[in-house]
Amino acid sequence: MNYRVGVGYDIHRLIEGRKLFLGGVEIPYIKGLFGHSDGDALLHAIIDALLTAAGEDDIGQLFPDTDPKYQGVDSKELLKIATQRAGKKGWRVSNVDAVVIAQEPTLAPFKKKMRKIIAGVLGIEQDAVGLKSKTNENLGEIGRKEAIACFATVLLHKGE
Ligand code: MG
Repeated sequence: MNYRVGVGYDIHRLIEGRKLFLGGVEIPYIKGLFGHSDGDALLHAIIDALLTAAGEDDIGQLFPDTDPKYQGVDSKELLKIATQRAGKKGWRVSNVDAVVIAQEPTLAPFKKKMRKIIAGVLGIEQDAVGLKSKTNENLGEIGRKEAIACFATVLLHKGE
């Protein structure tokens, strides 16, 4: 069995007048994540970890924010494409582990749904998607509710 591990990070600004999407789930909140796509920083961190573990270009190169094709795109679609690119090289996802750093809103009630959606797109069991949410202890831009950041690791395997 061959293994590869990848790490991903993303941060998006929180602004008014946008819907908040994290892990493919729309979360009721007064602000949403700014971005060319739907702004789903958690899926973007996972996509980057997956792509680079598979030896592919990163999310910014593959899905440039200058391309109108990706305007407002559902990030689940980008995750699906990333999974397929890795799959073409024979890489399958073993597990994902991620951290969301958000001062607000409280994400605990949505974690199960996020894990289910991510697992569904990746074609893995729900318990192979680890997800933690943390506040930033009121520190910095995340603590001031101006941004949400996410870290992710993805382990890939090839062979039996
Ligand atoms: Mg992003």
